Amino acid sequence: MPTVETTGGPVDVDQLGLTLIHEHFRATDEAGRFQFPHLYVEQADWDAAIADANAVRGHGVRTVVEPSALFLTRDARFSKRVADESGLNVVLATGVYTYDHLPQFLLNRDEDGVAAIFVHELEHGIQGTEIKPAFIKCAADEPGVTPNVEKIHRAAARASKQTGRPIMAHSRPASATGLEQMRIFDEEGVDPAKVQIAHTGDTDDLDYIERLLETGCWIGMDRYGLDLFLATEQRNATVLALLERGYADRMFLSQDYCSTIDWFPLEVQDYLRANEVPDWSMTFLFETVIPELKQRGMTDAQLDQMMVENPKRWLAG
Ligand SMILES: [Zn+2]
Repeated sequence: MPTVETTGGPVDVDQLGLTLIHEHFRATDEAGRFQFPHLYVEQADWDAAIADANAVRGHGVRTVVEPSALFLTRDARFSKRVADESGLNVVLATGVYTYDHLPQFLLNRDEDGVAAIFVHELEHGIQGTEIKPAFIKCAADEPGVTPNVEKIHRAAARASKQTGRPIMAHSRPASATGLEQMRIFDEEGVDPAKVQIAHTGDTDDLDYIERLLETGCWIGMDRYGLDLFLATEQRNATVLALLERGYADRMFLSQDYCSTIDWFPLEVQDYLRANEVPDWSMTFLFETVIPELKQRGMTDAQLDQMMVENPKRWLAG
């Protein structure tokens, strides 16, 4: 039986069950957190994280994949505590989440040097713990595939080839980065079936999505509730159209929810949550989206495929 690394050690893939493929129990910048701790309220972070973990558990979720990496305060001990106290499996990543900026210690290493850092974590554990990541994270966004972003992608590819672990690549469909990201992975000789292009559901451009699917990757329909990128109605119409075209075995449903996030001052964050993304939560899928998709024709088998079978196949290879 293939296994998947979690904060509690390797778990048989059949034990993963209902899986949210992309959620964050905390999303902050570790530089700010370490240097300016007065901006953060540790207890509030914990309360929000454990409330969300317990809430998704209440909807039958057994596993949450938390694709935090460098620059998103990946914190293996915090995630393990969430897992231990909620009873969830939490699956972590190695990698770098940057749209362009790299610190000196990465600027001054080449692709293989960066890959070696990822491989070390995959083989030995994260942040001095024995908790191993299950996959490798990288990102491209509005600046596009800059030389720094390309370097991280090539490093992710090489670490994947050395270890057999899958890759999750944050993308920006508005500038079609997914195709460029897949081109790099292809040049590096990565099996496209190991790659998930996250945030593909931020567009309803079916031509773009099908061109991406033709490369052989998985796609994340994973930002439900983030209306500022695409409204729920359009996300649903896109998922239903793709189901109709036979792509249930290539998609994931998730919300990219962040129990806490430090990208805005607290008062701005409160305003945005109330006004710009009022539906965004770690349970929106279960409360609203899934019932509506079912009512409009999604079958139980398709749902099971997207939220149980696909996570197993992507994570275990
Ligand atoms: Zn994310």
